[in-house]
Amino acid sequence: MTATIIDGKAIAAGLREKTARAVAAMGAAPGLAVVLVGDDPASQIYVRNKGVAAKTAGICSVEHRLPADTPEAAVVALVRRLNADDTIDGILVQMPLPAHIDAALVINEIDPGKDVDGLTETNAGRLVLGKKGLEPCTPRGAVMLIKSVQPAIAGLNAVVVGRSILVGKPLALMLLAENCTVTTAHSKTADLAHVCRAADILCAAAGRAALVKGDWVKAGAIVIDVGINRQGDRLLGDVDFEAARARARAITPVPGGVGPMTIACLLRNTALAAARRRGLPEPSL
Ligand code: NDP
Repeated sequence: MTATIIDGKAIAAGLREKTARAVAAMGAAPGLAVVLVGDDPASQIYVRNKGVAAKTAGICSVEHRLPADTPEAAVVALVRRLNADDTIDGILVQMPLPAHIDAALVINEIDPGKDVDGLTETNAGRLVLGKKGLEPCTPRGAVMLIKSVQPAIAGLNAVVVGRSILVGKPLALMLLAENCTVTTAHSKTADLAHVCRAADILCAAAGRAALVKGDWVKAGAIVIDVGINRQGDRLLGDVDFEAARARARAITPVPGGVGPMTIACLLRNTALAAARRRGLPEPSL
């Protein structure tokens, strides 16, 4: 079997178009504030890309760039100002923050209704409780990619490798909400290969290049590779792509798989946050 390659770029483009239509129907453009502290080169690229993507979806994106030595209290004060600013519907604080700033403290200052990264304790709690909130973008994008090849996934065995707050844990919760039987694996998992071989849906979010070998993939599985590992000027996923492709039914490439969905889901969350804050009918995105 040679797997279908799941075209994350095309699926993300479709979501961005739908979001742009929903935004256009709102009248006033939603506002997205992006806070960048310091001069981490990768973060600068991410922030620029997010700004460009927001504008193409009709979202008004405002960047706040602060020097690396900005005191924690000043970052908190900025977040509080953005919370109080009625023209702002979404707030995103780009990670990582400089070491002298407590990232969890800053995140929890964000108004949960504007928390378009879905990282506040309130939104994480809503996800656990199965209540409506704003969800982390990367795992929601991963679930959309899975459902693009198989809309009905109830009852399937899903294995998520990785348990971070940003990706692994929320992804496991989302798959559980889809009625999958979910196993979360991590660096202490005994016999990871054995665990992965049981997966109808195998999601790798470990940040280890080619961790998942081809013979860990069950024949006919759907493989979602969240990993982004830089080797020189190449980007590698967490899955040995060519070997896995020979066994899977569908697989995401790196780049061009989950990555583009993350930004598309950020725009989606901004549109959802704006609609909820303004009491408008919620767009179906
Ligand atoms: P973290 O480093 O926060 O978490 C990695 C997780 O993987 C941990 O739970 C860790 O286990 C587990 N892990 C590490 N090594 C192994 C191993 N050898 N075997 C099994 N489990 C292991 O990373 P993130 O969750 O933030 O990101 C994961 C990957 O996804 C990265 O490559 C990142 O760049 C990428 N990413 C991609 C995005 C996109 O848009 N495509 C967005 C966000 C992230 P333990 O908890 O035991 O330490």
